[in-house]
Amino acid sequence: MTYLDPAGDGRVTVDLPIPGRALAIGAHPDDIDFGCGGALAKWAAAGCAVTELVLTDGSKGSWDPNADRAGLIALRREEQRAAAAALGAGEVVFLDHVDGELASGLAEREEVCRVVREARPDVVLGHDPWKRYRLHPDHRHAGLLAVEGIVAARDPHFFPEQGLAPHRPSGLLLWEADEVDHVEAIDGFLAAKVAALLAHRSQWESTMGIDRDPSAEEQIFEERIRQRAADAGALAGLPLAEPFKRIDRL
Ligand SMILES: [Zn+2]
Repeated sequence: MTYLDPAGDGRVTVDLPIPGRALAIGAHPDDIDFGCGGALAKWAAAGCAVTELVLTDGSKGSWDPNADRAGLIALRREEQRAAAAALGAGEVVFLDHVDGELASGLAEREEVCRVVREARPDVVLGHDPWKRYRLHPDHRHAGLLAVEGIVAARDPHFFPEQGLAPHRPSGLLLWEADEVDHVEAIDGFLAAKVAALLAHRSQWESTMGIDRDPSAEEQIFEERIRQRAADAGALAGLPLAEPFKRIDRL
């Protein structure tokens, strides 16, 4: 029993060609690292220019009711930049919507469209907005914004006032996929993924279960990430992988 649900026909493709440019779109700081940190590290090592887009400010990412939220926002930006550096990613763009209050309306779509047109990625990665029984609204809206931002970016009649050339990516990979039909092999890049995740020091307690005994719990956390990657790899006979829903017809 795993968290993975293969697509109906059981067919799983392996490894896109290394993109020249990639854009990963996450709701919160750390989502990108969980979702596709290994693939981004692999592509960056092969020369891909990686841009990360974080839609919210991460200001609810604390269990401390007295947390200094402005301080938390600044800290989480720094953590995301450190995580991106651990993957070899370049620019990190922050849209700073309030954590927990992300919407996927026209204004937000215009913002994502702009980033797609500026970054001009060959491959976009994001949350699967169609993941069943998903509770967190930000993850659903972030997924919709990735999909709908691409639709807007490729068509010259969406947001012409941006004055930017339209751009059509060639591939979209959705993590937390409701139906997995693609994996990216990440052997050799698990350590980079774990390093990126551990850069989110403020999330160790709430998200990663690292609290009382960091050295032991870090190992348990790393083993959890390794086991997930092994489960995904098993879908395609690989040692370690990250699972996605793949959409090519953009
Ligand atoms: Zn999140």
